[in-house]
Amino acid sequence: MSLLNSVPEGYRSGFVALIGRPNVGKSTLLNRLVGEKVAITSPVAQTTRNRLRAIITRDDSQLVIVDTPGIHKPHHLLGERLVKSSRCLIGEVDAILLILDACKIPGKGDLFIAKLLKNIPIPVTVCLNKWDLVDEESKDRTYKDYKDYLVEESWSLFCCSAINGLGCIDIINKLASKLPFGPQLYPSNMVCDQPEKLLMEELIREQILIHTREEVPHSVAVNIEKIEEITPTQNQSNENCTAILANIIVERKSQKGILIGKGGIMLKTIGKAARLHIQTLINGKIYLELFVKVVPNWRSKSARLNELGYKGN
Ligand code: GDP
Ligand code: MG
Repeated sequence: MSLLNSVPEGYRSGFVALIGRPNVGKSTLLNRLVGEKVAITSPVAQTTRNRLRAIITRDDSQLVIVDTPGIHKPHHLLGERLVKSSRCLIGEVDAILLILDACKIPGKGDLFIAKLLKNIPIPVTVCLNKWDLVDEESKDRTYKDYKDYLVEESWSLFCCSAINGLGCIDIINKLASKLPFGPQLYPSNMVCDQPEKLLMEELIREQILIHTREEVPHSVAVNIEKIEEITPTQNQSNENCTAILANIIVERKSQKGILIGKGGIMLKTIGKAARLHIQTLINGKIYLELFVKVVPNWRSKSARLNELGYKGN
């Protein structure tokens, strides 16, 4: 029996795009909405490179939420591709969730995105994220400023906090109500459609960005070369274990130095933190080995971009 035959009456399903400028909290909100860590987040802008689909299954609906890189002015080839994929996505989904940073005053960048969304026939829900950081006395004004400046009459506006969950359930309810009637698209227990390998690479990249901050910017890529199951007879302990070998690719020799750190301390710290997150992801013990390689100007080299998984469309 196909899923289609078993659709309960009134069931809704569809795709929701998360749209917003870099660093507004898209990935954090995605994790919060889904309730598990599926997207990497970081205090550094532009962390999300690949589209990530996270799935929320409820009794009355299934929402497939697509995280996108933030829309911003492209600075180089990688930036252009990020923007292009966000723009393409707008035409492929059933609903849009526009995320704004309530701590910032509405600016030109927000208006640019709002204008992009104004003329498309897809329902838009807007949320003012980071509401936990807005002072009590500024709340009314902030809400009004955003509403007057860029929220269209037909759009729903919510205040939320991806960090503490405020307003998140209302957003899910609203989005679900905007989806078309249809069957479940993914199995109920699936929360993410990305292969584990990619999630693991993203978890390593997240730790690099967290630990090195501005010193090793977005010119860093992670590529897992080998994943191997090690049985108890092959190692000292009596547990199964997964050995992972990953390459970290940077553009300059100086970045390699920073990543490795004095006596290898930085790479060790990154490796340790990433290992803990990956262990949680796969629910098992892992050995993680990291290598740092220098590939000059990899961001501008199309072939290399494709090889590293950043597709041109
Ligand atoms: P993205 O680039 O839009 O995906 O943004 P991220 O999800 O990576 O978040 C950027 C930064 O904002 C991170 O440091 C998050 O912890 C922080 N952040 C996201 N949402 C909230 C929120 O609701 N409240 C607070 N206080 N911080 C947030
Ligand atoms: Mg992100």
